Amino acid sequence: MKIEDRLMKNIGKLPAPMVAWVEKRMKKIPAFREKIDKEYDGVMAELESSLKPYKESYPVFAKLPAEGRDRREILRELESLREHEESQWKDGFVSGAVYHGDASHIEFLNQVYALNSQSNPLHADVWPSATKFEAEIVSMTANMLHGENACGTVSSGGTESIMLAMKTYRDWAREMKGVTKPEMIAPVTAHAAFDKASQYFGIKMVKVPVDADSHTDVNAVRKAINRNTIVIVGSAPNFPHGVIDPIQEMSELARQHNIGFHTDACLGGFVLPWAEKLGCDVPAFDFRLPGVTSISVDTHKYGYAAKGTSVILYRSKELRHYQYYTTTEWPGGLYFSPTFAGSRPGALSAACWAALTSIGEQGYMNATKKILETADYIKAEIKKIPELRIIGDSLFVIAFASDSLDIYKVLEAMGHKKWSLNGLHKPSCMHIALTLRHTEPGVKERFISDLKLALDHVKNHPEEKGGMAPVYGMAATMPMRGLVSDMLKKYLDLIFKV
Ligand SMILES: *Cc1c(COP(=O)(O)O)cnc(C)c1O
Repeated sequence: MKIEDRLMKNIGKLPAPMVAWVEKRMKKIPAFREKIDKEYDGVMAELESSLKPYKESYPVFAKLPAEGRDRREILRELESLREHEESQWKDGFVSGAVYHGDASHIEFLNQVYALNSQSNPLHADVWPSATKFEAEIVSMTANMLHGENACGTVSSGGTESIMLAMKTYRDWAREMKGVTKPEMIAPVTAHAAFDKASQYFGIKMVKVPVDADSHTDVNAVRKAINRNTIVIVGSAPNFPHGVIDPIQEMSELARQHNIGFHTDACLGGFVLPWAEKLGCDVPAFDFRLPGVTSISVDTHKYGYAAKGTSVILYRSKELRHYQYYTTTEWPGGLYFSPTFAGSRPGALSAACWAALTSIGEQGYMNATKKILETADYIKAEIKKIPELRIIGDSLFVIAFASDSLDIYKVLEAMGHKKWSLNGLHKPSCMHIALTLRHTEPGVKERFISDLKLALDHVKNHPEEKGGMAPVYGMAATMPMRGLVSDMLKKYLDLIFKV
């Protein structure tokens, strides 16, 4: 066996920092470098055909066309592209992604968008309608989450809401407490956006573990607090397993130490309040808990707005001030903006406002009821399948693992039946985030029958290798995380390849 193969085989037994050290050295060895580059190229070539399906059948523009194209031709092309892609999400084969998707709702949002397509909230004097929509979106959302005196801003999505909040705590703690080496504490299940904020804003990430049912270890949170801690994070619910963190205990710890507590309700913000009213057992997660100082909630998920809006809420205006950007010295004039972007799409805020006001409390209640009923059916059916085990106690995101089969092969077999579900790792499992698409007649039954067929297929073809299954398997277990990360970067390169 060659030296690098032996190393690869045994490296998993080393402690993580040593692995990183070995990895850095090994990547500088030309022979090793060459070998992994070849490996990457192989994987990428396989992915390219599925990621770029239109190369042959549609015109490609690597540079501007010399003359503008005919508008009708462009529209015909777009309609044809839509036809290729629409049925998968429309017919309920996709986890999350399109949360409403009803034809008349989409048509209505499109009309609102068209009416406002030139609007930009940066120019509040030209489009006071845009600021009216945004102020009311924030107020309606805050009210829904029991923040009678809460405030906030509209952002472009959950990631931006989370990153804004983390930047806010960093600047708040620096000014109020002189913290220059800020740290945040988050369960390992917290959304990747918190890691992104940690990288972008130089905030040290301190991760705390969860148990087999995705419950955060509150004791580990308590132990992780130190004088550099600026914020503790909890999810309601978390993305991987749909489990709600013990927000009450965690936010109380934050309050006792005078640090921030952020509830990430990106996923659950527009579901949990209605689930509670419908009599579900929903643990407290919102501003009713005195320790909760900010909440992110996505209007573009279960708020049923078009993609591109989210809300970040703060308990106080003082805190929100640390999010804002102002400059008084720029030759371009006095400049200020509430979020990361400068110019912003006012039409998306208008469409968001239209979604919230056209659906209303009763509409959200009805939608939630349908989703929870669908979830109950699917959970009950999965519990009857001996090969599968549901992770945690969740309401509308159902994660499941298998102790006897390779769950990634099951994921892949579902893919062959048109399903686009989420593969997760640490632990290896998959999930479906239920949306209104799955409440349409026959969809939940089809999910279960396809799942049973997929399980049978995997059981009866143990020799089958499968395309992505080994990639998932490798990504989950490979000790050299830098190599996995390099592969993801290659994947992004591929996405931007014409
Ligand atoms: C979706 C999600 C986010 C991030 O949302 P984006 O809109 O994709 O940026 C954050 N947290 C949770 C729990 C989510 O489900």
